[in-house]
Amino acid sequence: MTETVSEMAAPAADGVLRRPSLVGRTRAGLGDALAEIGVPEKERRMRVGQLWNWIYHYGVREFDAMTTIGKGLRAQLAERFSLDLPEVTAEQVSTDGTRKWLLRMPSTGPHDRGAEIECVYIPEVDRGTLCVSSQVGCTLTCTFCHTGTQRLVRNLKTEEIVAQLMVARERLGDFPNRKAPDGAFVPNDGGRFVSNIVFMGMGEPLYNFDGVRDAIDVISDDQGLSLGRRRITVSTSGVVPQIGPLGEEMGTMLAISLHAVRDDLRTELVPLNKKYPIKDLLEACRNYPGLSNAKRITFEYVMLKGVNDSDAEARELVRLLKGIPAKINLIPFNPWPGTRYECSDWDRIERFSEIVFRAGYASPVRTPRGRDILAACGQLKSETEKLSARARLMLEQDEAGATPAVAAE
Ligand code: SAH
Ligand code: SF4
Repeated sequence: MTETVSEMAAPAADGVLRRPSLVGRTRAGLGDALAEIGVPEKERRMRVGQLWNWIYHYGVREFDAMTTIGKGLRAQLAERFSLDLPEVTAEQVSTDGTRKWLLRMPSTGPHDRGAEIECVYIPEVDRGTLCVSSQVGCTLTCTFCHTGTQRLVRNLKTEEIVAQLMVARERLGDFPNRKAPDGAFVPNDGGRFVSNIVFMGMGEPLYNFDGVRDAIDVISDDQGLSLGRRRITVSTSGVVPQIGPLGEEMGTMLAISLHAVRDDLRTELVPLNKKYPIKDLLEACRNYPGLSNAKRITFEYVMLKGVNDSDAEARELVRLLKGIPAKINLIPFNPWPGTRYECSDWDRIERFSEIVFRAGYASPVRTPRGRDILAACGQLKSETEKLSARARLMLEQDEAGATPAVAAE
């Protein structure tokens, strides 16, 4: 377990002192909070269980709603902590129902400027998928990805990852006995609006291994948010040494951003390939713990016009994956301002998909969702770029010896 840092009340963007939130914390983190307010050790496990249930199962927003906890303790908790969620600074709803939220994480002190990240909800007929971020920006520089051009980077904390699901459930009314702001109810068949999670937002999840692992522990806990590990997919650009540990410690579904079948081209598109070439990557996939026909690896392949979309490449793709229980996900390239790539023509994508399909693979072409709100894969950057520019300015001011500004604006 990574340590949940116990934070003191810190000034937020508006200068108001905010109490640290309990939302998003692990059981250990909640235990620490109880210890801080003097709850005796022998009582803590039971209290953690109660808090857990109220926070994650019911999604309550006030300590006073926690009726199984005595009034005195509720008051003590409320004095020292909050149940705040990150602020939603923008919500966009696409014509296809996709929603994108821009979230501002609370500032935790003078050196944390309150990072902004995006997460996206994609409703489909048989599921609702939440695409979450694991980092602010990304240290990798895949040439076709908008996030990869963003400079400001830090790992998201466990709480910040969990909070993305909490915000989504709150906005969608996706807790028991709740109604969404737009009047919709949680499906009454016991289902949930958010039924699946993919780590395909901003960042490389395997470079934030501990944060992601602990968040998945919270999210998949059946006493709380209850989203099973089989419904969680971690997508990686190929951090080979962490793939085995991902299977062992997180037990989620795995997606690999392959995108090319030759090392020279893959290194151009996904520069991390230089360090971990295709052969090593596929070897790690073959050894992925729990791999079976019921638990296949998804290989993502972004369709770039005239770059990686020939018939020969489709055939080579099939040959490379031989023996690995796999699904192939063809992603039409989502353009962004300033990119040098174009999306393959539709008949090319169909032809490519047919070759893959004939070889026995399901090869769904991922329908681009939320394009009108720049919410599709690899487009999550636009708003955070503002933060980046502002943060750069602040850093320059800091370096010049000016008083550090706290998430000014
Ligand atoms: N860093 C991880 C997860 C986030 S990216 C990874 O790279 O796997 C999620 C997926 O979106 C990856 O498959 C990525 O290659 C793809 N992607 C990035 N930019 C894209 C774009 N502009 N159009 C389509 N897919 C893109
Ligand atoms: Fe980072 Fe993934 Fe984008 Fe590559 S594709 S830059 S690893 S977010």
